[in-house]
Amino acid sequence: MNPVFSFTFANLETYYKTSLLLGYEVITCQEYCQRKNNLPAKVIVNRVDIDLSIAKTKRLVDIFNKLGIKGTFFLRLHAPEYNPFSFANYRIIRYLIDSGHELGYHSEIIDQAVIWGEDAHENLKRDIDIINRMFNIQIVGVASHGGMTGLNNLDFWKDKRPANYGLLYEGYDKEPEYNLFQEGFYVSDSEWIRWKCYNKGVLQSGDHRNFAEHAADAHPLMHVLIHPDTYYDHHFYEEE
Ligand SMILES: [Zn+2]
Repeated sequence: MNPVFSFTFANLETYYKTSLLLGYEVITCQEYCQRKNNLPAKVIVNRVDIDLSIAKTKRLVDIFNKLGIKGTFFLRLHAPEYNPFSFANYRIIRYLIDSGHELGYHSEIIDQAVIWGEDAHENLKRDIDIINRMFNIQIVGVASHGGMTGLNNLDFWKDKRPANYGLLYEGYDKEPEYNLFQEGFYVSDSEWIRWKCYNKGVLQSGDHRNFAEHAADAHPLMHVLIHPDTYYDHHFYEEE
């Protein structure tokens, strides 16, 4: 397929539809933890990192709701690009939660600790608490955001475990209860204009097929990561 302007919401919807027709069940990261010992024959763990746009996030929630599937959305708290508690954005996050999707925290824990000169451990506890109180929920998952600071927010987890923060998982954690990146077939849109994939943690160099094309290969466990910001109706520079 010509990769130019293929990241449309319409195409994305088709990829999910195709995966469903191929017999995949689409579940959240939390469900993956809870059902790990009893997974369906073909499953997609559906992860969404809200990097830049909550307006576009609503479009994804609409698609998932239309198809009757669930996803896990990771929300930033300190993004210059959006305020999660603005009048418009809070309503969208509320809609996401009320639709039955999972909300997790898209953490920038090392970034904020270094920029503010504060303690990362305390910051993470505070951030989780703020999300829980703001939306009256109990999040169970955190995923580390890769931003522009040159710092790696995943480093925080080198000597810490999600359970220490009342969590079931971190997005790339290697605890046997999760270990999804290492055990699954991972497909991500994080290169914006093309897909990339890893098979059990190993980059499949040069393979830029979308996840529906990979679904045709019947990988039992697929781990799909998408970003709302990547999609549009006609071209990349649309704002929602
Ligand atoms: Zn991110």
